[in-house]
Amino acid sequence: MTATGSLPLNPIEESLASLPHRVAMCADSARGLASDFVWDAQDAYLFDVDGTLLRSADRTHVDSFAEAVEQVTGDTISLDGVTLHGGTDTAILAEAFARSGVNFGTLETHCAAILERMAEIVETRRTELRFRRMPGVLEILKWLQAKGALLGVATGNLERIGWTKLEACGLHGWFALGGFSDRFPVREELVGDAAERARAMLGRSQARVCVVGDTPRDIEAARANELAVIAVATGNYSFDELERLKPEVCCSSLTALMEWRR
Ligand SMILES: [Mg+2]
Repeated sequence: MTATGSLPLNPIEESLASLPHRVAMCADSARGLASDFVWDAQDAYLFDVDGTLLRSADRTHVDSFAEAVEQVTGDTISLDGVTLHGGTDTAILAEAFARSGVNFGTLETHCAAILERMAEIVETRRTELRFRRMPGVLEILKWLQAKGALLGVATGNLERIGWTKLEACGLHGWFALGGFSDRFPVREELVGDAAERARAMLGRSQARVCVVGDTPRDIEAARANELAVIAVATGNYSFDELERLKPEVCCSSLTALMEWRR
């Protein structure tokens, strides 16, 4: 990506094409997990967005936090030092407020207006959004849909921002439901809510729901809800870092996972 103001590509992304394809099953006898988990035979999948389905190559979403706060409250906040990867927009906003020393009461008073403004900023600039779709995304969505799986997203993005990104990337049509951070600043809760809705849509309370994500937080959120998880090392965490957390499956990319299927 060469757009002005582009975020630097992370080293993992830059070398994705040349990385060896790796896939590992991570049976964990301590938790009593079965080692015969079949990654493409689950009833529903909840895909994380950033680092899993796509990567932003512009600062529109990142900059929308400070811009919205400035426009709504007149305060200046910074995202410096705030962990963005795996975080939720609502939690990132709260942490940025805390780090910037702005009165927390200001956030409580204006939170809804700030989130609304953030969504408006990203939607207004939708034509400026630059993304890279992660390798193997279309192939895996097509494969899982053909197998009859229900496909959804579970992301820390605000709902309007998440759908705007997916639409800009040509991916929104694949997903029947989404879990977002508008009502759930904690990822565990938004994943749990999305899983519950997926099961309701399927009409089966015991339907097997699998999370697909690129960070330890995706794995933790799946575990907190007793869901299986496929970790994919196309974000800011390496294969080895993710594998250590023992997701059911760890893969270097979704392409590697699809090839492993054969
Ligand atoms: Mg992510």
